[in-house]
Amino acid sequence: MGTAPRPDPLAFLGDELADLRKRHLFRPLRVMSSAQGPVAVMDERLVISLSSNDYLGLTHHPRMKRAALDAVERYGAGSGAVRTIAGTMTLHEELEAELARFKHTEAVLTFQSGFTANTGVIPAITGEDDLIVSDELNHASIIDGMRLSKAPRVVYKHADPASLREVLAGAVRRGRDGQGTPYRLILVVTDGVFSMDGDIAPLPEIVEAAEEVGAAVMVDDAHASGVLGRDGRGSVSHFGLEGRVAVQVGTLSKAVGVLGGYVAGSQSLRDILIQRARPFLFSTSHPPAVAAACLEAIRIMQDEPELIERLWANTRRFKAGLTRLGFDTGRSETPITPVILGDSETTIRFSNRLFEEGVFGTSVVYPTVALDRARIRTIVTAAHTDEMLDEALGVFDQVGHELGVIRG
Ligand code: PMP
Repeated sequence: MGTAPRPDPLAFLGDELADLRKRHLFRPLRVMSSAQGPVAVMDERLVISLSSNDYLGLTHHPRMKRAALDAVERYGAGSGAVRTIAGTMTLHEELEAELARFKHTEAVLTFQSGFTANTGVIPAITGEDDLIVSDELNHASIIDGMRLSKAPRVVYKHADPASLREVLAGAVRRGRDGQGTPYRLILVVTDGVFSMDGDIAPLPEIVEAAEEVGAAVMVDDAHASGVLGRDGRGSVSHFGLEGRVAVQVGTLSKAVGVLGGYVAGSQSLRDILIQRARPFLFSTSHPPAVAAACLEAIRIMQDEPELIERLWANTRRFKAGLTRLGFDTGRSETPITPVILGDSETTIRFSNRLFEEGVFGTSVVYPTVALDRARIRTIVTAAHTDEMLDEALGVFDQVGHELGVIRG
């Protein structure tokens, strides 16, 4: 038998990695050996973390831990099946009923993540007779959901109601056969809060433009859940648009502090998703501890409104500090504050220097954002203290001068 080494059919991956490294686009993982929190141990260094989505500090809230532990004791570690076979537990149904009450919608269906909520719902409710109209900066999971749908799609300019109106008018005029035959459904999809820039979608104008042509609106509130609206009900509550947005997607993985996603809307929407949404049909349901902790989170958000107040007070303090220091924070209106530095090499160096000085702020580079818009993406939470934020600002000031990003 010959013993000559066989060529590795995946050898090209090494070349691709070398290319990413050369272009400063390779992203190593930082590993956390403590609980998530405003201060965490990352790569064995104690740092002030400005990079989690734990907006309300619920990942480690005592009531959340208790709820998860009780669920494990009572129901075990895993659910053991997909929802449609033997994996629907009372906890899943209770969580959905609680979320529907919270969101003021008829019904809610949960998914394993916000990502699968988007990739589940879009192809389940759209087909070849429909049209999807999407903001150009929508999240990857919306883009993947659209790719999985048979419906054609058009993109409108980011957060631009005039561009949306133009796209809608053209679609209505042409129709689905070029001769004006109406689409069965036109679905306008937008993030509620855009995750890279922290800006809020102009939802009232979007809803108005959609209503004018009989289109439905879907909003992905991943970064608005727990952040915007009364008790963190999201962008629809923030703008007072209850009843006018057909599909609201939320995540349970960020402010809610655990893992999961959901679709809130009508009873028919929930029922059809149970029949058709592929992640729901073909992937195992949440472990009991996850469902129980999510349920507790929705209650905490209503019992402790001071958490969201603190989140916004911290947001104002940190943003004002960055602006005072002379950083470009783009168009952010939420706790997501990008510190835009330009090229990816400077940004990665900046992030590394922050880390060495005890502040964890992740760099976001191309292709997630445009080549010349690389940034440190910061998120403050309700759990940060004034002292932590001021210390972090001091480090931004120091590193900003050191790398010549700010002057004066
Ligand atoms: N939508 C948006 C806008 C997001 O930012 C994210 C998370 N990055 C998701 C969906 C996915 O949510 P999850 O982490 O629950 O899968």
